[in-house]
Amino acid sequence: MRVLLVEDNILLGEGLFDTLQDEGETVDWMKDGQQALSALSVEGFDLAILDLGLPKVDGLEVLRQLRSGNGSLSKNQHIPVLILTARDEIQDRVKGLDFGADDYLVKPFDISELMARMRALTRRSKGRTSDTISVGTLEIRPSERKVSLDGSPISLSRREYALLVALAEKPDQVFTKQQLGQTLYGWGEEVESNALEVHIHNLRKKLQGRFIRTLRGIGYSLTLAEEAT
Ligand code: CA
Repeated sequence: MRVLLVEDNILLGEGLFDTLQDEGETVDWMKDGQQALSALSVEGFDLAILDLGLPKVDGLEVLRQLRSGNGSLSKNQHIPVLILTARDEIQDRVKGLDFGADDYLVKPFDISELMARMRALTRRSKGRTSDTISVGTLEIRPSERKVSLDGSPISLSRREYALLVALAEKPDQVFTKQQLGQTLYGWGEEVESNALEVHIHNLRKKLQGRFIRTLRGIGYSLTLAEEAT
């Protein structure tokens, strides 16, 4: 999952960035509202964590512009947004929710609660009712970051896992290489030209050649038919 983290507090931002990366997410960390708007107008995200007290453009204004979906922000207009506020910012919290935030956390918060809320927001945005993503006998449990096939656990690298989740959230939907690349790699991250193909190749092998379908020149999909192609 591609996450936009907007936080100007360096210590907190670093902690969140590291934890989210460890959890297998692709994270872009922006330290002011202007940077956040730039990122939102260029890249497609799955979720945003937005501090409200920010330099240059404050978080509420970022949220307002995002939800208005003007111009190049339209691709992210409907992503789940979780706002971070200080304890005494009740009015901002209320405004944030009214401006279209989906959830909030009051600082200081426990990182495990943030992760659980992110999972809940993701479930809702993808239309899932339970933690488990199932495609035939393939099961993914995001809360534990565990994958099993025919009941046996499979061990995946961070990128392979991110790739699988992106594909499995929408079975049979074709993803272009560019779309999958956006899920896997942060802004400005150096990427080898065939990196995606390598991850797909390794993931497919771990899935015993099943599930992943290549549409030449177009992209990839995860198919319910489990046929190898
Ligand atoms: Ca702040």
